[in-house]
Amino acid sequence: MALHDVVIVGAGVIGCSIAAALAGTGLSILVLEKEADAGFCTSSSNSGVVHSGIHYASGSNRARFNVAGNQLMEPLCRELQVPFKRTGKLTVAWNVQQAAKLIKLYEQGLANGVPDMQIIDRDAMETLQPGISGIKALYTPTTGIVSPYELTIALAERAYANGVEFSFCSRLSKIKPPGSSSPHFRLVVEKDERTANSSTYRPAANSQLQARVVINAAGLGSAEVARMTGIETPDIFPCRGEYYILDKRLKDSLNLLIYPVPGAHSGGLGIHLTNTTEGVILIGPSNEYIKDSEDTATTAEILQALRNEGHRLLPSLDTNDFIRSFSGIRPKLAPPDEGGFRDFIIESSPEVPGFIHLTGIESPGLTASPAIAEHVKEMVGQLLPLGKRNNIITGRPPINGTPFLSTRFANAGLEEKAEMTARDPDYGSIVCRCETVPLAEIKNAVLRIFGPITLAGIKYRTRAMMGRCQSGFCLQRISEILEEHFNIPAEQQTLKGPGTELFTGRLRPLDPDKAANLPQTGREYSE
Ligand SMILES: Cc1cc2nc3c(=O)[nH]c(=O)nc-3n(C[C@H](O)[C@H](O)[C@H](O)COP(=O)(O)OP(=O)(O)OC[C@H]3O[C@@H](n4cnc5c(N)ncnc54)[C@H](O)[C@@H]3O)c2cc1C
Repeated sequence: MALHDVVIVGAGVIGCSIAAALAGTGLSILVLEKEADAGFCTSSSNSGVVHSGIHYASGSNRARFNVAGNQLMEPLCRELQVPFKRTGKLTVAWNVQQAAKLIKLYEQGLANGVPDMQIIDRDAMETLQPGISGIKALYTPTTGIVSPYELTIALAERAYANGVEFSFCSRLSKIKPPGSSSPHFRLVVEKDERTANSSTYRPAANSQLQARVVINAAGLGSAEVARMTGIETPDIFPCRGEYYILDKRLKDSLNLLIYPVPGAHSGGLGIHLTNTTEGVILIGPSNEYIKDSEDTATTAEILQALRNEGHRLLPSLDTNDFIRSFSGIRPKLAPPDEGGFRDFIIESSPEVPGFIHLTGIESPGLTASPAIAEHVKEMVGQLLPLGKRNNIITGRPPINGTPFLSTRFANAGLEEKAEMTARDPDYGSIVCRCETVPLAEIKNAVLRIFGPITLAGIKYRTRAMMGRCQSGFCLQRISEILEEHFNIPAEQQTLKGPGTELFTGRLRPLDPDKAANLPQTGREYSE
């Protein structure tokens, strides 16, 4: 039975940050993930805001890791070549009661060590964001935005390039803590059997493993994983947040992030207006306790409420240019009748030595992730000796021998575009017209995926299918590329792994002569 020094459960931003921080310590590390890729759960479905740290009670884990994470995030993103921008944020009061709450937030921010905050009046608000409503605002210039899925993928890649193993479609189903029969944890992993006949899945972990240390970074599944060891832990209450996405065309309408003053018992920070690093405006998230932690539906009623709230925050905003909706689910420790927030639990279990338990990592978990990872590394250091390797790969490493493309074709200037196309004709074949993603970038993304190849995995790495047409034009083309260049038949292509197949079969069999003559470098639009 394979023995790993450390098994991390969950490849969200928390599990991947910890894996990247521990890589290079000489420990053998395995990440188990039930989904088909890193960041397929909460870590890809959030506002992507790097919070300043004004919102959380002083002395709490949330305040401490938020403020530290905010400072670590910018250099980390620079190193990993992940989009990050320090936009600043206005928390807006509409009446005197809310204005008094702004002062409380300001004082809490001071106590938490948030720098450069200012309470500003209407004129200053209007200068920062023309057309904004409200009477006063708390301005926090250190608030920023990051691409949450790109960050999670980049961290997973760094860990993988430095020797961390990943096993996707692998659900941890049992843990036997160390005892008289074994000095190590014994883990049972359920592999998704539907992956057995598919060419897109690479070998996964054995179904029986041993580990010296187990780190529970399972997000919405963290209570379930902790209970496998026999320890007591509070329940997780899934709380859904829906978002309304506006077309990129409107990106200049919003200069910085706009939040309301949060309500006392609200499960979130209130419906806000944020930009993504790609220049898309999000309105959301709502705040609705649900029963099923996998129910990421969006509803007409809430989308209408989001639209109304977007208007209230910025009356000049054109909310007609809606392109799609999505939702993410908070793993809350505060039950519905309590509301508000409870603190993150991050502990080395006293009852089960070697079990490091992280639960209730809702917002600001994304912001806090680099600081949480450093803290967990110290906790591991108290359980196992941490070495230091000399040949650590930093930056954005090649994966499977394929380099990272640091300049996106869409962002390149005209001359640079011409150079790129002269160097590689696949840059001249644009696959996703909305986001200007060429064939060269689709192929590069597929070659760099070290787990199952899925459409969502390609989307999060390239932005193909994320534009206005929402894959209407490019999905079919990407499907053809997977068949032609990577030998993945359409019937085996999935959106997000087993059970999300896109095609059930062909209406007509593929003509064998045509199949034999398919070009190897992709088709041009003129065909
Ligand atoms: C609507 C919303 C908005 C948010 N906005 C922000 C924001 O603007 N800024 C911010 O800082 N934070 C924000 N957050 C919080 C942030 O998204 C989370 O704190 C963070 O993504 C949590 O990461 P994670 O790795 O713990 O969880 P996840 O991303 O959920 O990862 C956990 C992983 O564990 C896997 N797993 C679970 N059980 C098992 C098992 N038994 N075996 C194997 N794998 C398992 C899951 O498949 C999952 O991939 C927001 C969250 C939501 C829902």
